[in-house]
Amino acid sequence: MEDAIIEDLHTTNSEAHIFFSLKRKPHTCPHCHTVTEKVHDYRLSILKDLPIMSKKTFLHYRKRRYHCPCCNKHFYESFRLLPKHCRITTRLAFYSIHLLRDRQSIRAVAELLGISDSSVFRRMQDVRFPKPSHLPKVLSIDEFRGNAGGQKFQAILTDADKHKLFDILPSRSQVSLMQYLQDFPNKKEVRYFVTDMNKIYRDLASEYFPNATIVVDKFHVIRYVTWALENVRKRVQKLLHPDKRKYFKRSRKLLLTHKYKLNKEGLQALEIMLLHSQDLATAYHLKELFYDFMDSYTRAEAAKKLRFFILAAQASELKEFHACLTMLGNWSKYILNAFDCSYTNGYTEGTNNAIKVIKRNAFGYRNFENFRNRIFLSLT
Ligand SMILES: [Zn+2]
Repeated sequence: MEDAIIEDLHTTNSEAHIFFSLKRKPHTCPHCHTVTEKVHDYRLSILKDLPIMSKKTFLHYRKRRYHCPCCNKHFYESFRLLPKHCRITTRLAFYSIHLLRDRQSIRAVAELLGISDSSVFRRMQDVRFPKPSHLPKVLSIDEFRGNAGGQKFQAILTDADKHKLFDILPSRSQVSLMQYLQDFPNKKEVRYFVTDMNKIYRDLASEYFPNATIVVDKFHVIRYVTWALENVRKRVQKLLHPDKRKYFKRSRKLLLTHKYKLNKEGLQALEIMLLHSQDLATAYHLKELFYDFMDSYTRAEAAKKLRFFILAAQASELKEFHACLTMLGNWSKYILNAFDCSYTNGYTEGTNNAIKVIKRNAFGYRNFENFRNRIFLSLT
């Protein structure tokens, strides 16, 4: 504000009011380009500015209008801190965007700065995050329920090596993913594609990334085994004589915990529980075999342990493990790829959680671009 002449200053406990005008200087008429210094009149406008010493700050600006002697028209002096038709200064607008990075809701930022929600919202729309030009070496994909722009699910792409958000797509459908991916010039440079067990994503990767190893994140796989074990437990528990129910207290937790993590007491309770049902004992044994497979250090070790698990699950004839066996039949190859590299969907899922917070704070986004902007502002 080097050109400003401060005329007065009032402060209260919570507000600061600064009265100023700008130095009079020659201006070029925007209509006919004549230079003039002739003043027509002044108009008072009140602008909000950045808080000073945490007081809400108002600028009382005596805005000068110049008179052009050549074309007889009037025009306002220029003031670069203030965009046209604006009631808040440019630096306050920047600051509101900056605050949005801390994942505060638009409402919270607006309240903090004493400006309207729509002022913050408009500033947010001014920020643009263009589509990236090159794909990362390690691309990870997931989806989330964003309910934005008329689509229930959105797709999220991240760089799983550098742990960066790559892009958010309006839909997770095959068509929209194809349209999005086809223009990238470096599809052949993608070396790893990390995904959950979604056939659409896998087929897309095989088609577009000929040099990529498709990796299924291990932690999506475990769920199938814990579901199977849980279903066996529920079946057994339902048929249990009421006298024996006491042995099944805390059964869920005892069954799902790694055996080596249980203390003496837990191990005893587990043993008694498993004595009451052969099916449950078998299912439990399968789960431990699977956990052991998951802890493998090398791909060769993992492949051996997985084969062993599959044979044991088939031999068990427990129907609850059918879905798990089918899944392994379709995805084993990609699950084993996870033992060759350290890439997981972990970062993507963390990002998904951050997006949930944004969504909750915003009560949903009808417009997808605004939603995407908001996510980029917070996460990049
Ligand atoms: Zn003029």
